[in-house]
Amino acid sequence: MHSKDNEIAKQARASIDAIAHALDSEYPTDSDFPHQRWQAVASTGIFRHAANVQSKRNAILSTINALERLGEICKDSGLTFSVATHLASTITALEKFGSPELKARCMDELVAGQLIGAHAISEPNAGSDALSMTTTAREDGDDFVINGHKAFVTNGSVADMIVVYAKTSSAATADCVSAFLVEARSPGVHLGLTMEKVGLSSSPLCELTFENCRVPKENMIGRRGAGFFVLSHVMQREILYSFIISVGEMQRRLKRCVRYANSRRQFGSSIGSFQSVANKVADMKIRYELSRQWLYHIAERMIANQDVTSEVAIAKVFVSENALATSIDALHIHGGYGYIASNGLGTEVCNALAGPIYSGTNEIQRGRISAMVGITQGKAKPTPDSRNSEVVRLESHMVPKMDDERTHSELLDFLNEDVLTFVSAALGDEPLDERETAVKLYYAVRDKIAYEVFDTDISNVGLRASHIVKDRRGFCLHKALLYAAVCRSQGLACRLVASRVTNHIATPELQNLVGGDVFLHWYNEVKVEGVWLQVSPVFNKLLCKLYSIEPLEFDGYRSAIYQPFNNGLAMSYLGNPVVFANPRYADLIDLVNNHHPGMIAPDGRLPQAKSSGVTL
Ligand SMILES: Cc1cc2nc3c(=O)[nH]c(=O)nc-3n(C[C@H](O)[C@H](O)[C@H](O)COP(=O)(O)OP(=O)(O)OC[C@H]3O[C@@H](n4cnc5c(N)ncnc54)[C@H](O)[C@@H]3O)c2cc1C
Repeated sequence: MHSKDNEIAKQARASIDAIAHALDSEYPTDSDFPHQRWQAVASTGIFRHAANVQSKRNAILSTINALERLGEICKDSGLTFSVATHLASTITALEKFGSPELKARCMDELVAGQLIGAHAISEPNAGSDALSMTTTAREDGDDFVINGHKAFVTNGSVADMIVVYAKTSSAATADCVSAFLVEARSPGVHLGLTMEKVGLSSSPLCELTFENCRVPKENMIGRRGAGFFVLSHVMQREILYSFIISVGEMQRRLKRCVRYANSRRQFGSSIGSFQSVANKVADMKIRYELSRQWLYHIAERMIANQDVTSEVAIAKVFVSENALATSIDALHIHGGYGYIASNGLGTEVCNALAGPIYSGTNEIQRGRISAMVGITQGKAKPTPDSRNSEVVRLESHMVPKMDDERTHSELLDFLNEDVLTFVSAALGDEPLDERETAVKLYYAVRDKIAYEVFDTDISNVGLRASHIVKDRRGFCLHKALLYAAVCRSQGLACRLVASRVTNHIATPELQNLVGGDVFLHWYNEVKVEGVWLQVSPVFNKLLCKLYSIEPLEFDGYRSAIYQPFNNGLAMSYLGNPVVFANPRYADLIDLVNNHHPGMIAPDGRLPQAKSSGVTL
């Protein structure tokens, strides 16, 4: 650990120690929300630190160190669960996706803990299958009007601000959901049934009904249709925050069991001297250490903007199950006394039982993990509706303006001598017209990226995206950038096009193919003989089959390029895309990182070619 990190950890932990007296050393005996303890937690600055936009490192490390310590010293797991929910549901969502106006309106009070946050995704009939939610948000003038019924809203009855996920379109695709910040006391928000739980008693859980609840358009978090994108980011943080608290609890349990095992005597010896008891304690230590290490590992990856999809799913399963196992072991080590309610060990088991359920059940997480390692998911084919696509426009201010003053090498990192060597090898000595040049370069680029950068043989099967994207995402971006570079080196105008393919989440097969939920597809348009042509995305046959579209056959160079863009054989799910006339790698990295975190290597470079003497 870096010394600066040590300092962050020390301060965060000290801030929690400073309020230890206010946290109450006993297990809560009722289910009232502990407002005073909430305020004590807020006074440590934990919420404010989490929203620190100046330093992501500081924000994440300080938050998880504070939460871990909170888990260790605070026996009120309902309170700590509510704290994690507030942090993830509202602060994280707003900090990352909220408009400046929305943040200005409520962030200060949220991070001061004066306003309490919650989020409403689940419904009575839509839990694991969140896409089947029926809550709708209908556009009406300057507002959206929300109608529907939500269940399992943590903090719901005490919340001031609720992030509500609702359908803004009737398509059965992931892009049908948007997120809204709703003031809990708005007309049309009705508090429903309080859901009494078997554990986490002081964390209120309730149902909520929205009846013609008008929400100004400015309250949308993220873009329209990006609800699941917001949720996916929020869930990653929720898992990190909730389960680092569990790690703190595991540490407390371990210490308690060591004390008990050494002090409780039977058969003339401490029970800890019996190997079967000692082994349980050893297992508790192993479970604690590995859970802790894994969560801090994820935190480091998050700080480095690396993809954590798989890691978070693993953490969810591993930590929740080990937290539960240690709670049961702790009770057992205490024998009959462990079963006495006032000892709190039964409460700890009940608290830990929730871990494998919330934030996506462990069955769902295991499904994700198995899909990511290549297990084919057995689910129905997409319905005709789910094939409909909607291309989401990226914000126009993110599109770089034309800047004719720049040289090629400034515009594209790739345009260096190595690229030129690559181009002259690809084109050979034959005289070529513009079109032939564009086509030849296209194939050279495609093959180079597939064979050399991603080490994938595409000769028989077409482009096997499943191979390519497994660990190194962004195949199409790399290809599109390189293609733009090589075209420009030959004086051909070439631009990049970004299109968000939105219906992958609805098809596990595609999710599996692209290794994630949301997929920005990049391709090129090249100007040949005065006409802009779309350069084929070259999707493989499997993809075509999934979408029931004719596979593209490449029976020669010419068919690789379609013309003109809108009237040709453009794939049905691409349309109306965003065009980058002058792609600059740095801008693209920013953009992709904003819309598709973890896709670009932390140093902003592409993987290097392996076998060829040509380095790109
Ligand atoms: C303490 C707590 C706090 C919560 N807080 C919130 C909150 O703040 N906001 C919110 O929106 N929700 C919240 N939830 C709801 C939670 O997200 C859901 O309970 C969870 O997503 C599961 O949905 P479900 O309860 O409808 O179960 P179901 O989806 O009906 O699942 C029932 C069982 O079937 C299994 N199952 C379902 N589908 C599959 C599948 N495809 N493959 C294998 N197994 C499957 C599940 O794993 C589970 O074991 C909370 C839940 C708990 C327990």
